[in-house]
Amino acid sequence: MSQLLEQLVVMKFGGTSVEDAVAINRTAGIVAGRRDKGLTPVVVVSAMSKVTDQLLAAAAAAARADRTGALAITARLRNRHLETAAALVADETMAELGAWIDAEFTSLDEVLRGLAAVGELTLRISDMIVSVGERLSSKIIAHAFAFRGLDAVHVDSRTCIITDNQHGKAIPLDAQIEARLKEHVLPHALAGRICVMGGFIGSTEAGVTTTLGRGGSDFTGALVGGGIDAGAIEIWTDVNGIMTTDPRICPNALRVKTISFEEAAELAYFGAKVLHPATILPAVKKNIPVLVLNSRNPENEGTRIISLAPHCESPFKSIAVKRRLTIIDVVASRMLMSHGYLKAIFEVFDKHKCPVDMVSTSEVSVSLTVDSNEKLPEIAADLSALADVKYEGQKALICMVGENIRGQNGIAARVFQAVRHVNVRMISQGASEINMSFMVEESEAEEAIRSLHNEFFANPDPEIFDIEALKESVR
Ligand code: ASP
Ligand code: MG
Repeated sequence: MSQLLEQLVVMKFGGTSVEDAVAINRTAGIVAGRRDKGLTPVVVVSAMSKVTDQLLAAAAAAARADRTGALAITARLRNRHLETAAALVADETMAELGAWIDAEFTSLDEVLRGLAAVGELTLRISDMIVSVGERLSSKIIAHAFAFRGLDAVHVDSRTCIITDNQHGKAIPLDAQIEARLKEHVLPHALAGRICVMGGFIGSTEAGVTTTLGRGGSDFTGALVGGGIDAGAIEIWTDVNGIMTTDPRICPNALRVKTISFEEAAELAYFGAKVLHPATILPAVKKNIPVLVLNSRNPENEGTRIISLAPHCESPFKSIAVKRRLTIIDVVASRMLMSHGYLKAIFEVFDKHKCPVDMVSTSEVSVSLTVDSNEKLPEIAADLSALADVKYEGQKALICMVGENIRGQNGIAARVFQAVRHVNVRMISQGASEINMSFMVEESEAEEAIRSLHNEFFANPDPEIFDIEALKESVR
């Protein structure tokens, strides 16, 4: 049994990996490659690229009574899905699949018409609308795989990914998920069949459709992997894994071959493009390695995320940046150290469900950073009942991550020497001691990253960083 479980590999493909018939065929080839190696893939797919955004746009249009606008969007989506399906399966299958796709869009349009009449978009309705993306993609892809000779079965994720009822960003219920996966996925997988499931979507115990939040398909991948005790979880995307920094900022960025869960979790928050932060948790709990791979370059080894990082000569593994942040300064000269004051501040953020990224305090002030701006006026108004409040946007947080900074002297000096010409605002080193972050003006962020990359990746450890790729590009 455990041998069989070891062979299970969850393969999650993002929107660009399934964006059209060509991409879906490429994905089928990658899945077949794993099967040929004796592995049993369980496939989790996103909606085709941009579909989630378009569904949300259709919902928003309907909610402001723009019925025509909403239906124009779904008409385009209907065509795109029908055309893609027709290019992927045999005519006989298409008759049935096409009718099913049509029926899905017909009921979607009905919901949108109702929404346009009522004019009130709840998160529950939004989940219902937006879930269509993954429901369609997973079904089409399961058929496409079968047409290519893969023994594929479609599993509706809503039968397995059971969540609470916080629509828009529901919390998965691990025990139920494990039980459902054992019932609906494991028997297929152990019989060698390839289950194809939509990411991002789930349902409450009562059967109401929910979603896990934007980018949630990675999370689904990890939940499925954790729930069935898979041997590995592969996140197939369109980059060659985790890089030492964004190659668009720094052309000599290197692929990181191996990274620890803890380091990846720190980075995930910044590089949402590569991994959803919560992806990490279900995998960590079960000690399942996660691989980040490129579906346009499947031979590339990608990045392997494991529990304990191997020894690395370099202090840092990667430099990430998060832009469009706002600093909020709360200044109260008399009250700061008084009992319960910080709690009162955090209660304001809690009330507005606004996550705080970074906090630094001094005798008289607390500075916090947040990345969502829409609630800021309300938050500031509430905070001003406690103290003087100022907020300032267009900041960027630079975050340097590496296990090897633990207990090393002189690293901070090197960091700040490298960015001496930049105006550095808040500085923090998290309790995990594997992350050093500081805030700069957004306009200065790229320059700062290039200086830091030059300082810390001039002599990269070849065990950990892919220096071959760099040599080739120089040749
Ligand atoms: N389709 C969803 C989104 O675009 C989930 C995902 O792709 O991970 O947010
Ligand atoms: Mg994604």
